[in-house]
Amino acid sequence: MRDMKYSIFSLIRNAFSYHQGWQQAWRSPDPKSFYEVIIVGGGGHGLATAYYLAKECHIRNIAVLEKGWLGGGNTGRNTTIVRSNYLWDASAALYDHAVNLWHSLSQELNYNVMFSPRGLLHLAHSVHDLQEIGRRGNSNFLNGIDAEYLSPEQVKKMVPFINLNCRYPVLGALLQRRGGTARHDAVAWGYARAADALGVDIIQNCEVTGFDIENATVKGVRTSRGDIRANKVGCVVAGHCSVLAEMAGFRLPIESFPLQALVSEPVKPIIDCVVMSNGVHAYISQSDKGELVIGASSDAYNSYSQRGSFNIIEDTVGAIVELYPLFSRMRMLRQWGGIVDVTVDRSPIISKTPIANLYFNCGWGTGGFKATPGSGHVFAHSIAGQDMHPIAAPFSIDRFSTGALVDEGAAAAVAH
Ligand SMILES: Cc1cc2nc3c(=O)[nH]c(=O)nc-3n(C[C@H](O)[C@H](O)[C@H](O)COP(=O)(O)OP(=O)(O)OC[C@H]3O[C@@H](n4cnc5c(N)ncnc54)[C@H](O)[C@@H]3O)c2cc1C
Repeated sequence: MRDMKYSIFSLIRNAFSYHQGWQQAWRSPDPKSFYEVIIVGGGGHGLATAYYLAKECHIRNIAVLEKGWLGGGNTGRNTTIVRSNYLWDASAALYDHAVNLWHSLSQELNYNVMFSPRGLLHLAHSVHDLQEIGRRGNSNFLNGIDAEYLSPEQVKKMVPFINLNCRYPVLGALLQRRGGTARHDAVAWGYARAADALGVDIIQNCEVTGFDIENATVKGVRTSRGDIRANKVGCVVAGHCSVLAEMAGFRLPIESFPLQALVSEPVKPIIDCVVMSNGVHAYISQSDKGELVIGASSDAYNSYSQRGSFNIIEDTVGAIVELYPLFSRMRMLRQWGGIVDVTVDRSPIISKTPIANLYFNCGWGTGGFKATPGSGHVFAHSIAGQDMHPIAAPFSIDRFSTGALVDEGAAAAVAH
């Protein structure tokens, strides 16, 4: 097990041995035949769940099974936007719980996740948009979440090169100063390293291919590396949650779509906040390397292909150039896609299932990165206890039959 704390002193000590003495960040163990809890999916949410299960719920016999490599799913493919200015009370509680954890996450994990609360703007381009941000801002206020209304002039002050008078003029904006970005890979690696240090077995290249179910109770999983028994199983597989649910014999109200993003060539610092526009569908921030990080929209068809169609990229770049003509001659460096798991109310599912001791955490769609610490935290306590964590309770799968939806369509639709 790892025992080397990252610090200025360990950096200096290792410099004397030409940095040859660093331990592996996490082990690569073979699967055991039994675990107390198995987490399926080695993305940020799965790894965070395993970490909090070990750290706060004191369960030590835990495995994370990942079919590919850690963070190779949406965790390593997203545009890293973090915010909590959602409309409904249930969402505000969940996402703000996460934002509060983000603030001390680097210290908690002894790993720099590069959380950068640089401020996040939601632009309004129509009267309807203004009403939406007004309603949401007021609701945020009531939930103790910071929200500021900005006039077009104030927007221009924050982003001097924005074109306020484009085809859909900028009429105002909602600002959350505590919103921002974090380094996506570091979140997966930080949780993996910290979970491993607490004894969690992280097993990559291990695909779950089925469940052992007796009397409507899960008894274990079948994997590409053999069968493994477990008392409890938590599935956190994002775009593939419907596939896993089918293996367990039930259906989820989820559709999976490709969602794309792209980055430009690196340039000197030019934009020090995140700017999002649902109206023309463009959002942008700048990475520490200098690349413009640009989010596109999802394709209109279902797919598991992890690549999207060209018209989406073309529309996105068109929208960026309209809002920021300055960027018209920048070259795009690379583009990619991820498979997002979208529910009808654009809110996640954190829930028990019709199979006893089998839990699902999914449906984060286009916007789950920001929730990673909070999601892992409440899911771990839900798996360890008898009842779901109070923050997770409204996100039960039952809401699709009772009608108690948490409809974040306007605040979360494709806006990350
Ligand atoms: C282009 C893009 C941009 C985005 N931008 C943002 C943003 O700016 N802000 C934001 O908050 N969110 C954003 N998101 C959404 C966010 O990335 C996801 O909601 C979040 O990362 C989901 O994390 P996860 O750990 O649940 O899933 P993942 O990171 O996808 O992890 C799931 C893991 O399960 C594994 N798996 C699947 N099937 C099996 C199996 N049978 N056996 C074992 N393992 C399996 C996969 O290999 C994968 O590694 C974006 C997503 C995309 C694609």
